[in-house]
Formats: sequence, C-alpha cells, structure tokens
Amino acid sequence: MFEALYIEKTAEGAQHVALRTLPDEALPQGDVTVRVLWSSLNYKDALAITGRGPVVRAWPMVPGVDAAGIVEQTTSPAFQVGQTVVLNGCGAGELHWGGYAQRLRVPADWLVPLPAGLDAFQAMALGTAGFTAMLCVMALEREGVRPSDGPVLVTGATGGVGSVAVMLLARLGYEVVAVTGRLEEQPYLQSLGAHEVLPRALFEAPLRPLEKARWAGAVDVAGGHVLAAVCAGMRPQGVVTACGLAGGMDFPATVAPFILRGVTLVGIDSVMCPRPLRQAAWQRLAELVDLKRLAGLSRTVPLAAVPQAAEDLLESRLKGRIVVEIPQPA
Ligand code: NDP
Repeated sequence: MFEALYIEKTAEGAQHVALRTLPDEALPQGDVTVRVLWSSLNYKDALAITGRGPVVRAWPMVPGVDAAGIVEQTTSPAFQVGQTVVLNGCGAGELHWGGYAQRLRVPADWLVPLPAGLDAFQAMALGTAGFTAMLCVMALEREGVRPSDGPVLVTGATGGVGSVAVMLLARLGYEVVAVTGRLEEQPYLQSLGAHEVLPRALFEAPLRPLEKARWAGAVDVAGGHVLAAVCAGMRPQGVVTACGLAGGMDFPATVAPFILRGVTLVGIDSVMCPRPLRQAAWQRLAELVDLKRLAGLSRTVPLAAVPQAAEDLLESRLKGRIVVEIPQPA
C-alpha cells in the first residue's frame, strides 16, 4: 500500500482532492517502480489540483509532474535497484500518475539518473520549473546570445521558472533585468543575481509595434500582453524564449520585431523534451546551480499541505520554488 494525493471527479463533474491509501496493484503500467522521496509544486500542478486549468486528462489522477526517488523495482536494464532518479514532465500528473505519492511507476525512458552534484531534494528544488529555466538559457545560448550582447530580461521573476532563470543567467555572466509584479521583492531578486528590477506594469501599458530596442535576450513566463511588449523591446537579432502563460494564453503582438529587427521567438516545452536534451539540461543544471542560492529560493511543504499551497501559488502569494515532502513509510 502507498499514500498519494488523489484527484477524482464527482458524479456532478466537480473535482475532489484528498490523501488516499492505495494498493500497489493500482499503480499504472511501467518498467520502473520508484520510492518517491521529494516532489515539487509547479504552476501546472497548481492548475491540476485546483481544477483551474485543464491539466488532468485521465481520471482518477495522482498529480505531481515531478519526482525524485529511489528505484525499488525495474525490468529495464537501464536502471538498477537503489539508484536515485528524477522524473519531470512526460505526461506525469496529467495522463499518468505522478509524483505526489510514496510510490510511482513509469516507463524507463521517462527517468533520468540523478546527475552527480545534486541530491534528490535539490533536484526537486529545481524541478520542472528549474529544468524549464535551463532549457530557456540553453536556447538563448544556442541562438547565439552572449553576455556581451546586452541585458537579458526575465519576466515573472519571483516565480519558480523566473527565480531559477535569474540565478542561472547571472551565474553565466549575463546582465539580468528581472520583471516582477512584486517590486517589494527587489532584494530577493538581487540576491539571486538580478542587476536591475522593473515593474511588470511597464510591460502592461499600451504598445507600439516597436519600442526602444533594449534587450538582447529574454525568458518569458507570462505570455499575453507582456510577451508582446517583450518582443517589441528586443534589440536587432534578439532572442525571446517563451515558456509560460501566467499572464495569458493570447499573443497580441505584431510581426514588426520579427521582420524589422530579425528577432527570434523560441518556444520551450519541458514535457515532451527529447531525452538527449533532457539529460543534457539536468547535467548542465548540476554543473551550474549555486546550491546556496538554490536553498535560499526554495522552501518545503508536506504532501498534505499541497492543496493550500496550490491556491497560494496561483494567487502569487508564494515565491521561488516549493519542494513537496513525501512521507516515508516507517
Ligand atoms: P509560478 O507561479 O512559480 O510563477 C509565475 C510568476 O508569474 C508569478 O510568480 C508572477 O511573478 C508572474 N505572474 C503572475 N501573474 C501574472 C500575470 N497576470 N502577468 C504576468 N506575470 C504574472 O509558476 P512557474 O514559474 O512554475 O511557471 C511559470 C509559467 O511557466 C506558467 O505559465 C507555467 O505554466 C509555465 N511553464 C511552462 C513550462 C513548459 O514546459 N513550457 C514548464 C514550466 C512552467 P512576479 O510576481 O514576479 O511577476
């Protein structure tokens, strides 16, 4: 038997979330069974748990897009019993039972061996948000944005993706300009390495097709009007990585930045990220992350507190990363 957070649809179509004890036979198909040590709370998990977004596509569901734990059983030669592994995305917590459980079972090729330099807790302090931030940074590098090219903007900077992106870019020597709706968090953002902090309101004002060309690169978690404003303010040949929709799903932009300044817009998807890139991104995180800063941007909640934390996250009452403590069997 194992404990899990369990989401069911009621007969009236409402969503019910509770801790449940489930039999091992209920675990889905997969090659590898993992004893979960830590999980994490991402924006997508919060949408799934509160039902505010159509994240869950199979019912009932054990949510949690992330997990780090120890292999308990495996039919795949790629892993050994006792090995520490990381799961993020791949449909976990959406279509396949995920990380908010003492035990999970998944196909072997969804798992990544924990890279040297990170422990299971630190891997979840990064989680999908940190992984996505890394994918954004790697895309900026791949598209040729160098620290000497000029400032790099990070929107939603106090959130999970934003906080890790600020930390990684600063570590790589970029001049990071953080955009936030919470200017009172300026000291926090500076502690992560932000060079300058700007109010989000500047990116919500009415727009011209092209604004003053300021940014060499950008990591955008907001989408919507903010993303359009970011694109309008890019320097010639600038690169925008778009990974989120915290401010909206729409994209009320013009083509001007793309055809008059050669701006590149790169889409980032962590869920179906190809395995070689997935492994490379985790490896890079292990090499780059400042563990002291990572500890400073993360805090832990017990599994039972995840539903309340999900509400708080969607109301922007949290900052940085939330690690979920999975109760260990006695
Ligand atoms: P968080 O809730 O931790 O951070 C989101 C941040 O966005 C908030 O902290 C806030 O930062 C900012 N924000 C909130 N409301 C708005 C708004 N109306 N307009 C603009 N900004 C806003 O979430 P995550 O960091 O985990 O995820 C961020 C986004 O990235 C989400 O949309 C998520 O779905 C997406 N995502 C996408 C992935 C992918 O694979 N493409 C993977 C992971 C996340 P502040 O107060 O500092 O402005």
